[in-house]
Amino acid sequence: MKAEQRRPAEAEAIIHRHWREELPYRALVHVKDSAHGTPLYMVAGSSEPARKASKALKLALELHGGRCFYCQAKGETVSAHFTLDHVEPKRRGGRDLLRNLVIACTHCNRSKAALPVEVFQPNAGREWLLAIQALIKARLELISED
Ligand SMILES: [Zn+2]
Repeated sequence: MKAEQRRPAEAEAIIHRHWREELPYRALVHVKDSAHGTPLYMVAGSSEPARKASKALKLALELHGGRCFYCQAKGETVSAHFTLDHVEPKRRGGRDLLRNLVIACTHCNRSKAALPVEVFQPNAGREWLLAIQALIKARLELISED
């Protein structure tokens, strides 16, 4: 279905969807900080000891699968066609923390490289904008029916 034809409820769901609420991200549970202050996470469905964000997210992806944050392509494992990406690139001071890590397909990761996300303009952002556009259009049609 084309994004422009989405029903308002579908558009609403896209606008309010937050990637942190989805697997594999929600499989991560912060348990403690290391002696150096690094947050450590357990992964639901695994008995592995607590580990730092990047290692925990890789394990969660291997266990639960996931989608590319940028193009929404689905993947099963990090090693196949998926990697972890720093939304704010490390070269620009982006840190190795969960809030700065997303799953990316190798194509998107390579295309984005060290670009800031607003310059890269991922498809996920485009989908979100089109969903807002569809919702506004549907609401304008409701108003004009009165
Ligand atoms: Zn991708």
